[in-house]
Amino acid sequence: MKDNKIILVEPLHYVLQGEGKNLGKKMILLRVAGCNVQCPDCDTTYSWKFSKKDFLLSYTKEELLKEIYKINNKKNINHLLVTGGEPAIWQEFLSSLLLSLNTFFFDVETSGYDEWKFIKNHPELSKKVHFNISPKIGALKAKKFSDLKDIYILKNPPLNYIVKIVSSRKTFFEDLQQIEKLIEYYGIPRNKIFLMPFAKTREELLEESEFLIDQCFIYGFEFSPRLHILIFNNQRLK
Ligand code: SF4
Repeated sequence: MKDNKIILVEPLHYVLQGEGKNLGKKMILLRVAGCNVQCPDCDTTYSWKFSKKDFLLSYTKEELLKEIYKINNKKNINHLLVTGGEPAIWQEFLSSLLLSLNTFFFDVETSGYDEWKFIKNHPELSKKVHFNISPKIGALKAKKFSDLKDIYILKNPPLNYIVKIVSSRKTFFEDLQQIEKLIEYYGIPRNKIFLMPFAKTREELLEESEFLIDQCFIYGFEFSPRLHILIFNNQRLK
């Protein structure tokens, strides 16, 4: 945590959660800068591959709390969505922030390759945090972490979590082998696995969804649409 500040890649704003178990819920979105995974097919490269036109914002905890409460007062939203990039690299700052927001609930998006010590250090947070864990074992591959055993968070899983896996018609049966190994290695209940279509545009999303929904019924997984692509196509939201 440099100078007790966190770096964001976009201003705080309110959104609907577009994926996973809390799909459609109103949340305040906090998108952190930086990622230690750096997938070649990442759909938010602007969060870690910075160019001159990207503007980075730095906040102290107090400044951020002020911004969060501004939205909370106007829109009556008490759910914070922490995403990136990879929020785990800011977990010391985030643990302190989340502990200060005692009337809030949290969705945290993570690739899962870090330990997330703060939950262990603050068990009172664990009931309020829902982890959306997205290991890169499906159609999205990470260069750096290729071993299933590297998904640190699943070794001692948090109280509330799902595992989101991006898959596609083209790679599904290969992905399925990896998913089955993951389920067996970590003892994950099948209904915690959410399949998400590999898509960057609305057209691709619709093409991929029908096939994946069928597979969810066959293999006992859940399906996650990608609401932001469905509604806003491939526009970057601010
Ligand atoms: S872990 Fe997520 S943010 Fe990081 S590169 Fe992969 S897809 Fe992008």
